[in-house]
Amino acid sequence: MLTIAVSKGRIYEEALPLLAEAGIVPTDDPKTCRKLILNTTRPDVQLVIIRATDVPTFVEYGAADLGIAGKDVLIEHGAESLYEPLDLGIARCRLMTATRKNAPPITGRVRVATKFVKIAQRYFASLGIQAEIIKLYGSMELAPLVGLADCIVDLVDTGNTLKANDMEPRDLIMNISSRLVVNKAAMKMKNAPIAELLAQFERTLAQR
Ligand code: AMP
Repeated sequence: MLTIAVSKGRIYEEALPLLAEAGIVPTDDPKTCRKLILNTTRPDVQLVIIRATDVPTFVEYGAADLGIAGKDVLIEHGAESLYEPLDLGIARCRLMTATRKNAPPITGRVRVATKFVKIAQRYFASLGIQAEIIKLYGSMELAPLVGLADCIVDLVDTGNTLKANDMEPRDLIMNISSRLVVNKAAMKMKNAPIAELLAQFERTLAQR
């Protein structure tokens, strides 16, 4: 049995066509069913549906053989303990700094609200900017509006969330896409089915 960890939402939706090309179609829909383990049309493959930030943990400990996770999540987790053989090119977005509209440029000392603490620390350190990082778990856009922070570090796709909150994107920190990650022991113990799946994903991606 191969277990693949995927998070609900954007990554799951965009992973479905890739999985389908490999003959893996979930037999339940996580939007309408509360099951956390989904069987698929392949009797040897199951999906576990978990929070995006938990995907690297499940794969690292071998609770899932494979996982699909954003590069942002992998960097924050510290993914040295996992193989990351494939950029799936899905759930693309940009990790950016953002401020209130027309705020002065970020220099000197800055208060930053984000859930990407490690990435933000490294980024501001690389610029020589002294940053006090405030960890939040969601609704980062609120922080500058209520005076909690001068700036945020968050994922931006269309920019609509920022715009709706009177904010604007500033600097690009990195481009993000979802990656396939593999448990190191599983890569050895279950090499044949994993290699076959990797090859299928590669074929599908090459055709896109
Ligand atoms: P948007 O309004 O299209 O710029 O989307 C921004 C919101 O969606 C922010 O709250 C982000 O955290 C979230 N978001 C955008 N892209 C992604 C992604 N690829 N994966 C996870 N969250 C995302």
